[in-house]
Amino acid sequence: MESEEKDEQVARMRHSASHIMAEAVQCLFPGAKFGIGPMIENGFYYDFELPRALAPDDLPVIEGKMREIIGQDVPFVTEKMSKEKARKLFAAQPYKLELIDEIADTSVTIYRQGSFTDLCRGPHLASTGEVKAFKLTHAAGAYWRGDEKRPMLQRIYGVAFASQKELDDYLSLQAEAAKRDHRKLGKELDLFSTHEEMGPGLVCWHPKGALIRQVIEDFWRAEHRKRGYDIVYTPHIAKVDLWKTSGHLEFYRDYLFPPMEVEGQQYMLKPMNCLGHILIYKSQLRSYRNLPLRYAELGTVYRYERTGVLYGLARVRGFTQDDAHIFCRPDQVEGEVTEVLSFVQFMMSSFGFEEYHMFLSTRPDKYAGTLSMWEEATEALKHVLEKLDLHYEVDPGEGVFYGPKIDVKLKDAVGHVWQGPTVQVDFNLPQRFNVCYIGEDGLEHNVVMIHRVVLGAMERFLACLIEHYGGSFPVWLSPVQATVIPIADRHVSYARKVEAEFKNEGIRAQVDDRSERMNLKIRAAQLEKVPYMLIVGDKEMASSGVSLRLRSGEDLGSETVVQAKNRIMAAIEAKS
Ligand SMILES: [Zn+2]
Ligand SMILES: [Zn+2]
Repeated sequence: MESEEKDEQVARMRHSASHIMAEAVQCLFPGAKFGIGPMIENGFYYDFELPRALAPDDLPVIEGKMREIIGQDVPFVTEKMSKEKARKLFAAQPYKLELIDEIADTSVTIYRQGSFTDLCRGPHLASTGEVKAFKLTHAAGAYWRGDEKRPMLQRIYGVAFASQKELDDYLSLQAEAAKRDHRKLGKELDLFSTHEEMGPGLVCWHPKGALIRQVIEDFWRAEHRKRGYDIVYTPHIAKVDLWKTSGHLEFYRDYLFPPMEVEGQQYMLKPMNCLGHILIYKSQLRSYRNLPLRYAELGTVYRYERTGVLYGLARVRGFTQDDAHIFCRPDQVEGEVTEVLSFVQFMMSSFGFEEYHMFLSTRPDKYAGTLSMWEEATEALKHVLEKLDLHYEVDPGEGVFYGPKIDVKLKDAVGHVWQGPTVQVDFNLPQRFNVCYIGEDGLEHNVVMIHRVVLGAMERFLACLIEHYGGSFPVWLSPVQATVIPIADRHVSYARKVEAEFKNEGIRAQVDDRSERMNLKIRAAQLEKVPYMLIVGDKEMASSGVSLRLRSGEDLGSETVVQAKNRIMAAIEAKS
């Protein structure tokens, strides 16, 4: 089957499975009221108003009933009818009546299978027997029409695939993803925490998580200096007037923490780093010969995200962007954006991401500046993407209020998609702040600002890395790179000597000097996901060697300390 045709068939199957689930629920819960039951990515859901709350035990029972209906292989039959007739048919279904009222047409279509009838545009499968492989996954509360003022319904989610194998593959990938959940691993590996006492969405980085962050930041700084960026620092709070001028107060209000008053002046936590960099630029008169100027900052910003959307490290209220602003002349924009995209590609491959997708996000509903500025900036981005022959999709309306952007979304090892780097072209803030250079003609001209991050935010990027690597970080990022394990207490001082030699070379080594059995210490290092274990006993002491093991359990046998040192240094050098 052509893949498009197959997709179409799978979409019908997912939606048909939702009707079958509704029929099962109708049999098992007389008096159930029905909301909507669309297909979604990988599956389907249906919203119900039920006489009682669902328990986890209910799902297998509903599933059993669904299998019965599928086994009976009853046809899906459609009928077109007047709204009036449909209102009678759904007289006991208030949610359906509400939907009927909203349909502009004078007639509606219904679909029927077995004892169940639904208001539906279709399309559906020919009969229930065509549903191949499905599973109900979980239930959750959902407000009718997503409106918290309307009744809370019970939503049951399911997944469905064209074959049992595809379903099994999907479920095992999900199980693997659950094992890699950064919130779970972050705790197990002692990387970070959040605290109700501190406030939701505010992250404390523990020593090991902080160490990974430092390694990334050191690498980030070095790579920026190589590429002609200057590193700067700017304050976390600033006077409200600054955010008035920028338009943040007007266009970004929903994400701002409320202002605070000091000595009669209103101050605000910064939601973005742009303005500090603008003030640094404006501290001197700049000529066309000075451009481009590239200011980079690991800048911590604060955004008010609703409690409901906060999620581990991936969605937080305080985070550090690996930010930079490039101030350039209009004729330099394409060259600079090209450089940024190649920098992005370099960073992604350094961290082991092979799959990522580019999106061109265009003008949102609330925007600043003129249409022609937006047009010009969007064209510039498009032109670079096309020149570099990069595949991209358009994300309509997803730009920031001051300009369009290219978003890069990363796919991790278990297929999750993460928001990553972005590049934004901005003609708007330079006008608002009168950010100028003196041209060859001796006159003042507005610069173009390019806002960009090459990782995203340190918090979200770490979440993504944890899940991408399942906590087994490559050697260069591992907080502890080698654990030296003395077999007996008499080997501890030799173990310390080995540790010291490694540390001298900059290798992050530790000794497990507890009076525990060797196997227990090996297990502990494996759980900690330390890449190398160096076991030392009488034989190793006598030969100035170590016995080397990997966290995978692989035994590499004996090596001299120097050989082991060189091996680990080479692995650090190689990065991913
Ligand atoms: Zn339907
Ligand atoms: Zn910016």
